[in-house]
Amino acid sequence: MTKEEKLKEIAGRVAKCTRCELYKRATKPVPGDGSPEAEVIFIGEGPGYHEDLQGLPFVGAAGKLLDQLLQSIKLERKEVFIGNVIKHRPPGNRDPLPEEIEACRPFLDEQIQAIEPKVIVTLGRFSLNKFLPGERISQVHGKARYVNFLGKKYVVIPMYHPAAALRSGKIMEEIKEDFQKIKMFIEESPEVEIEEKKEEDKQMKLVL
Ligand code: URA
Repeated sequence: MTKEEKLKEIAGRVAKCTRCELYKRATKPVPGDGSPEAEVIFIGEGPGYHEDLQGLPFVGAAGKLLDQLLQSIKLERKEVFIGNVIKHRPPGNRDPLPEEIEACRPFLDEQIQAIEPKVIVTLGRFSLNKFLPGERISQVHGKARYVNFLGKKYVVIPMYHPAAALRSGKIMEEIKEDFQKIKMFIEESPEVEIEEKKEEDKQMKLVL
């Protein structure tokens, strides 16, 4: 099976999924969207109002900001893959429940395994906790980490959720800055860059 076929097959299963109760009140499933050959995957929380109507991820206000952030690093939506921890909208945009996250987990896991991206960007705390449980977003945003996930090593860069940036000018500045780091991990050998970044950080601290 090609990567594209695998993603379609997963989306087909998401569309029929009854593993938790969320499908009952959702309009459309939102399996995720983008290139099967993506070097970077963005993972949000779950569909909101607009996503639920269209069946596509990040198409509301937070999605518009995500598009602008992608443009700022010269990436287009069709070059990356955008997904969510949860594939059906939680009623009233409430936080997903632990059992819903667990029920939905195989779909995102399989999408990541199919695409094998170089970089995973987590947007918000639910996708952060998938890879780095117990970490706080305010402390780790913008800091790339190697994470062993299902037998493979990925670069994970935690970021704030774009919706949080829309509510806070300070977070908006931070997410813009954090986004600039993505390009470097796609273009260069991550091993070297992570080491260099650490050196840079030390130097910055010395200067400050
Ligand atoms: N927020 C998310 O976390 N995901 C979406 O797809 C849209 C908004």
